[in-house]
Amino acid sequence: MGMERHEVIVVGGGPVGMHALALLEKKGLDVILLEASSVLGGQLDSLYPAKTVDDVKGYEPMKGHELFLNLLAEIDKAHVRRNTKVTGIQKQEDQTFRLTTTQGEYQAKALFLATGLGFYHPRTMGLEGEQGTANIFYALSDPNILEGKKVIVFGGGDSALDWAKELCPIADVSLVHRRNEFRGDGHKIAGLPIKIYLSYIPAKLEKRGNICTGIHIESVIDHTDLRLPCDAILVNFGLVPESLPLPYEKASSGFGYLSDEHSMVEPNVYVIGDLSYKEGKRKRMEPGFEEAERAIASYLLSR
Ligand SMILES: Cc1cc2nc3c(=O)[nH]c(=O)nc-3n(C[C@H](O)[C@H](O)[C@H](O)COP(=O)(O)OP(=O)(O)OC[C@H]3O[C@@H](n4cnc5c(N)ncnc54)[C@H](O)[C@@H]3O)c2cc1C
Repeated sequence: MGMERHEVIVVGGGPVGMHALALLEKKGLDVILLEASSVLGGQLDSLYPAKTVDDVKGYEPMKGHELFLNLLAEIDKAHVRRNTKVTGIQKQEDQTFRLTTTQGEYQAKALFLATGLGFYHPRTMGLEGEQGTANIFYALSDPNILEGKKVIVFGGGDSALDWAKELCPIADVSLVHRRNEFRGDGHKIAGLPIKIYLSYIPAKLEKRGNICTGIHIESVIDHTDLRLPCDAILVNFGLVPESLPLPYEKASSGFGYLSDEHSMVEPNVYVIGDLSYKEGKRKRMEPGFEEAERAIASYLLSR
């Protein structure tokens, strides 16, 4: 993979990174946005797509997903690189920045860092042989691929219960949770033909090649072992945030980086959105949008 060069790189495709990209495009700059995930939208579209957002200036109250679609309509998708997680940033002798990513290297003169709360990846079961198993899922875009299958859903929160309920009409569903009651609303699966195993944790996988054919679960009460045959496993243990380590001063609260009034942390590097800490600033979209606007104006002046 060669080195891709641009004048400006925006890192992070949440609402603030998307807004920054739209503004930089309007100014006619050579810019791209690198997003770690396979989708844009950050917290807005992944955590609350169905919630009404009514506090962003310039937008009528609307659902999170609609606001995301509005922001998406403002940007040129040709300037977006998805599945591209930035893993390191190095300043070079010529004062440009070299970014190492999961998809090769990039170089830019200026950086707008909008990685917000970080890149989220699913919490695994932590079992030997789990990685690379083709029929263990942590998210499902099309539940129909599990039609007619024996599916074991792990987890006790609302997303595990929702999946068990949704799969129930098309699959043979078992639900395993480590506590003796669900954290989510158990009423939603009441009366459904779901086999429920409470107070059990995943203990050992049985595999043929990269396919899991069964899983042993262990009682947290008396440590007895139970083997459940399966065609697929759906794990709902929540998300683990992973932050991009940056060599700049962090706020004492530990959340976000300190910067000047233009959000600059060093010449030509700006932190915007939830990644940037300022006394009294709320972690909301509008302050992040305003920061992006001020940071871009400052960069254009210094150019
Ligand atoms: C439940 C909930 C409800 C909310 N409701 C509102 C509301 O009503 N109004 C409001 O204004 N705000 C609301 N917020 C806050 C708002 O969502 C955040 O302030 C906003 O998402 C911050 O945007 P951001 O772009 O800075 O960061 P994020 O949304 O966190 O996006 C960061 C992006 O960067 C990507 N990324 C991270 N690390 C890397 C890396 N190393 N390389 C490449 N990409 C990376 C991530 O995958 C992500 O897409 C709410 C938040 C939550 C959790």
